[in-house]
Amino acid sequence: MKILVCNVGSTSLKFKLYDMPACTVLSQGKAERVGSLDDAIFQYENLQTGSLLNEEKTAIPDYRAGIRRYLDCLTDPQTGVLSSVSQIERVGYKTTLSKNHFGDHELTDEVIEGMCAWLPLATLHNTGYLQAIGVMREALPDAIFLGCFETGFHRDIPLERRLYGVPYEWYERYGVQRLGYHSASHGYIADVLGKISGGSYRAISCHLGGSSSVCAIQDGKSVDTSFGMSLQSGLIHAARVGDMDCDLYEFLRHEGLSDAQIHEGFEKKGGLLGISGVSSDLRYIEAAAKDGNERARLAIEVFVSGIVHYIGSFYMDLGGLDYLVFTAGIGENSDFLRRRVCEKLGVLGVVLDNAKNEACHGTLLELTGQDSKVRVFAIPTNEELGIARRTYDYVRP
Ligand code: ADP
Repeated sequence: MKILVCNVGSTSLKFKLYDMPACTVLSQGKAERVGSLDDAIFQYENLQTGSLLNEEKTAIPDYRAGIRRYLDCLTDPQTGVLSSVSQIERVGYKTTLSKNHFGDHELTDEVIEGMCAWLPLATLHNTGYLQAIGVMREALPDAIFLGCFETGFHRDIPLERRLYGVPYEWYERYGVQRLGYHSASHGYIADVLGKISGGSYRAISCHLGGSSSVCAIQDGKSVDTSFGMSLQSGLIHAARVGDMDCDLYEFLRHEGLSDAQIHEGFEKKGGLLGISGVSSDLRYIEAAAKDGNERARLAIEVFVSGIVHYIGSFYMDLGGLDYLVFTAGIGENSDFLRRRVCEKLGVLGVVLDNAKNEACHGTLLELTGQDSKVRVFAIPTNEELGIARRTYDYVRP
């Protein structure tokens, strides 16, 4: 069965076409800077032949153009792996949020309505998905569409760790509670650790990328996470603020900022970018810090402190720790960031093997140092594979 996995970012589209149940990736593609008429990037790779298409400074004015471009490549005689897109039987999406739908759900009208109903909690993400799903429906009218919602892995978190201190009716009437995200990634890490441990374990998974979250995992289940109800919570993110004191909104209005300015500060000009003033990309911030830029150094330390704060708290939740995992763009690639976090965890008996850490960029590697009480790993996440499997396994009720 041919299954297309589709990951929609606020300005990006990522695709992987799987042949299931073999889990073979036939082709992958991505469009970045969607919305640009002259500066978008489109990449397509046929993994059967190894042929690669790389277009920079191209026009991808909207999601429709990006999706069309990928689907055309799939059937093009030069680059294609399919004779017709109708061979795609199912599409799995790494969807973010839908009211009252937390696990894997076929994208029926009701589920789509749930995505619209909770739009304010995930405006950028849900808007992108709603557009992309609509375009894809036109192109693949007979395919089954499955939404693997990013909140699904955290449904087992006990209520005492999900409730905010708000009037209880808000939880009952509006569903106000901490939901958690990055389910595809933390769920994949839990699967890998299940194989490594062969039994029961306590782990903390640090998904550090454009968005970042920490998740406490016990025996394959999430028992706590740093994200709250919206994506505007938890750790500082690339350009989003993360946890915020709710009275600051009124305070900043009182100081003369407009609603638009406050939103922009929280959502687009905050986080690593906001503190460093350098970039939202940690690579540039690390380079600036090495050159003596004090705000860049500070941004890294704020990020590290937040990660360590959650790890300490989750250590107590779990009653100890067997595995500490770093994953996603930063976690997999930044030896500097991993070292800074582990240095602060010495009190928990975490010891990193510095040579292995420095050599590890984007590969699965155990980084545990001598006499460490906790095994440390870098594990490249594979969100798409988990979604392909779940989409393949889905049985219509
Ligand atoms: P997203 O959350 O957008 O899916 P990723 O998980 O791919 O993002 O992470 C992207 C981020 O990873 C980049 O913004 C960059 O900051 C960071 N990154 C990638 N490689 C490195 C590296 N070698 N050193 C530090 N940071 C890196």
